[in-house]
Amino acid sequence: EDYVLEVDQLKTIFRTEDGDIPAVSGVSFSLKAGETLGIVGESGSGKSVTSLSIMGLIPKPQGRLSGSIRYKGKEIINLSEGEMREIRGNEISMIFQEPMTSLNPVFTIGNQMVEAVLLHMELSKKEAEQRAIEMLRQVGIPRAEEIMKEYPHQLSGGMRQRVMIAMAMSCNPSILIADEPTTALDVTIQAQILDLMRNLKKDFNTSILLITHDLGVVAEMCDRVIVMYAGKIVEESDVRTLFKNPNHPYTKGLIKSTPRLTSEKQRLYSIPGNVPSFKEMPKGCKFVPRCEYAKDICYKNEPELVYVGEDHKSSCWLNIEQAPSIEEDAS
Ligand code: SF4
Ligand code: MG
Repeated sequence: EDYVLEVDQLKTIFRTEDGDIPAVSGVSFSLKAGETLGIVGESGSGKSVTSLSIMGLIPKPQGRLSGSIRYKGKEIINLSEGEMREIRGNEISMIFQEPMTSLNPVFTIGNQMVEAVLLHMELSKKEAEQRAIEMLRQVGIPRAEEIMKEYPHQLSGGMRQRVMIAMAMSCNPSILIADEPTTALDVTIQAQILDLMRNLKKDFNTSILLITHDLGVVAEMCDRVIVMYAGKIVEESDVRTLFKNPNHPYTKGLIKSTPRLTSEKQRLYSIPGNVPSFKEMPKGCKFVPRCEYAKDICYKNEPELVYVGEDHKSSCWLNIEQAPSIEEDAS
């Protein structure tokens, strides 16, 4: 198969005065050409650190990476900052939740767009301006010429995110990493931005790695999904299977607590407790303090990620040992 990105046993550890924090501990997955892969989990699950690791944006020396990250077959883990900048400018782009933090407040949109264009295209200033305007139109920005003269704070959140997407797409990247791209936006604008990303993916055949805590967004956008918990993958499958036949108790809890996927009459569920901090990480299954199906073995040993169906993996002792079958809620 044609993979643009292969992550193998990625570990990202932060050194702190309180000791090492394993934010990502042994994550493996692949991204196919033209595919949208979702990484879902609560905050603290390691999904953002995973994407920052791929982008080479983990601050060193506090952050240490091991394992393998291959882009189109080429190893890119621990490249020099210069080599990584090449890749970020041309091959893998990223958009974040709050575009305000990535746009420079003291330069006009036009300035920043032109600079982004000139980074990877040999054009005159005039041509680059034309190209920038075209790209703003492509992401659905009306009055693009006027927007070029405005500053980031003069735009709405949705417009800023469109500008960010235009910049990210200006190098025609093979991979777009979108970390909670719509979380800060209201529902209508969110739908528009998701539409835009879907269209861009179609037009440019870009692979998308979509980081989100929102399973509703996953349902709308993704082909496959990875569910992360406490720095590890706990479930992986195609999107249909995940919603129709989730395996891991954590995934089941996430689905039950997503409003748009649950009927309105039902009271909204919330998984009890929080992602454990790295200081009080359970010894066995990391989900054990919050799991209603936990049994003895779960406290002692960590389950491995194993196949539970075709292209469907899950890490839960209920699949591995003989165990009482999980009763589905009569909902
Ligand atoms: Fe729950 Fe045990 Fe499965 Fe962990 S391994 S999710 S504690 S049943
Ligand atoms: Mg995050």
